[in-house]
Amino acid sequence: MAQLFFRYGAMNSGKTIEILKVAHNYEEQNKSVIILTSGLDNRDGVGYVASRIGLKREAIPIFDDTNVLDVVKRTNTDAACVLIDEAQFLKKHHVLELAHIVDDLQIPVMTFGLKNDFRNELFEGSKYLLLYADKIEEMKTICWFCRKKAIMNLRFHEGQPVYEGEQVQIGGNEAYYPVCRRHYFYPPKLTK
Ligand SMILES: [Zn+2]
Repeated sequence: MAQLFFRYGAMNSGKTIEILKVAHNYEEQNKSVIILTSGLDNRDGVGYVASRIGLKREAIPIFDDTNVLDVVKRTNTDAACVLIDEAQFLKKHHVLELAHIVDDLQIPVMTFGLKNDFRNELFEGSKYLLLYADKIEEMKTICWFCRKKAIMNLRFHEGQPVYEGEQVQIGGNEAYYPVCRRHYFYPPKLTK
């Protein structure tokens, strides 16, 4: 039976590289995958998934008014798997469409994203994935400042931690760091 997966982790927990790896594994067996990502993600231009270690490939961008079920029906209903990066930016209706891809088309859907925003609130996409996914898995990484597991994302603006503001800043001067809870509240000074 196909399932809906949500794999979440803090910044830098290897989510994108995992997508590229899963896609490669399917394709090595001549099985096709459909890769989608948020249209909001501007790290490397719309329509790509790009990992920090330099690998990237094209992806179908998801915008607020995109119907993901229709996209998959149009693209390839024989796909072995649907992979979604930046899943935190999905809207509720997208998550419900993903559930239909799994239940109606019997195609497994694997979504990857952040759980908490920098204010330590759930993203909309993450909230509904937590509610609707069959399987929820944490991808681990360590705190930027110590060896504990990072469970939160801290936003810095010009070297200062920020706890309020818009959830999504596009093209801003912000940097995000994976942090443990203690360093979320009491981050050391950034040295670089
Ligand atoms: Zn820490």
